[in-house]
Amino acid sequence: MTSPVWHPFTQHGLNEPVPLVTHAQGAILHTADGRRVIDAISSWWVTTHGHCHPRIMAAIRAQAEKLDQLIFAGWTHEPAETLARDLTAMMPPALTKVFFSDSGSTSVEVALKMALGHFANRGEDRHRVVVMQGSYHGDTIGGMSVGARGVFNKSYAPLLFDVDVIPFPAEGAEQATLDALEACCRARPAALIVEPLILGAGGMLIYPPRVLRAMREICAAHGVLFIADEVMTGWGRTGTLLACEQAGVVPDLLCLSKGLTGGSLPLAVTMATEEIFASHLSEDRSRMFFHSSSYTANPIACAAAVANLALWRDEPVLERIDRLARRQAELSAPLAPRVSNLRQIGTIVAMELEDRAGSYMSALGPRLMAFFRERDVLLRPLGNTVYVMPPYSIADDDLARVYAVIAEAVETL
Ligand SMILES: *Cc1c(COP(=O)(O)O)cnc(C)c1O
Repeated sequence: MTSPVWHPFTQHGLNEPVPLVTHAQGAILHTADGRRVIDAISSWWVTTHGHCHPRIMAAIRAQAEKLDQLIFAGWTHEPAETLARDLTAMMPPALTKVFFSDSGSTSVEVALKMALGHFANRGEDRHRVVVMQGSYHGDTIGGMSVGARGVFNKSYAPLLFDVDVIPFPAEGAEQATLDALEACCRARPAALIVEPLILGAGGMLIYPPRVLRAMREICAAHGVLFIADEVMTGWGRTGTLLACEQAGVVPDLLCLSKGLTGGSLPLAVTMATEEIFASHLSEDRSRMFFHSSSYTANPIACAAAVANLALWRDEPVLERIDRLARRQAELSAPLAPRVSNLRQIGTIVAMELEDRAGSYMSALGPRLMAFFRERDVLLRPLGNTVYVMPPYSIADDDLARVYAVIAEAVETL
């Protein structure tokens, strides 16, 4: 019997198995056919404290009894108010305003619209966006426009808007990136959007904090808005709450999603400076920020996020992350001679399984995925790039098993 479900990033013509998951706890997924699967990629980078964390589940249950959904234009509710206050207390003080949406992609769309709206409202003709080569910012039209072009979006290319691309700051070539940014900035674009310290979907490519800092300084010198897309890097992934922290960078616009609810429910925010809010502030309705989606700031999702922030306040989450990072360094080290470019930032470890750089369409990727799936480990390589990004609560023997299975793959394939 075939299912009517059309899955994302799935070629149904290949008839690859689609496991049915019935329940999950911590880093473990349980399937309908009784398998216990280790979720080594945090269900596509969202799960931070573990699946079905009791405090987040309790907050969801409690909120579901009180208020399920509310129009958010001109109306408000307690979970959104609390969350916005808690976020402004936790994130850099310059980010005073919180705009809600429901996915990482929409948080990026919102940031881009805010940047352009900011200059339009000030009567400045600045509308170009600078992006980094190889970036990923989501699958909506705007998100694809500011992201890497390739097989993923070739069919839609006519819909994508034109951007200025600066090269990835590869080791030894950092100055070329900064020079390119400087040149772009002289043409007075509206904004630079960047994934701080690591390009995720682009292949887990890491670059140093000093480059991020230098990029921020160039933008500031030219009045170019700096948009940090921390949709993946936020919530401790790189070892600090935000990746920007490691560079001493405060962006003008900050996109957060994935781990915002601990990975339990879809929610996103775009945080903005007072200056960007102020340019939209007027008695003239035509200058308001024209954006909404039906489920903006859904109360249940906000309650889950409030519980996530409480966990960050009450528990030693960063210590847990630090322990996980050090343990992963130990477990991955023996792989170094047998893979290429083994690298790590915080809780993310990545490596290539063939010497030459493969693409996302590399034939090795699907074979690896099947190999891991047969061994009850959820890993989803990007082409021939295998990466591990576990929930922070993963048990040590499960983590060791993940690296043992990767070692086996290196030997076998
Ligand atoms: C995942 C991701 C997005 C898109 O988020 P969705 O919630 O999948 O729309 C945007 N930017 C980055 C850096 C991401 O990793």
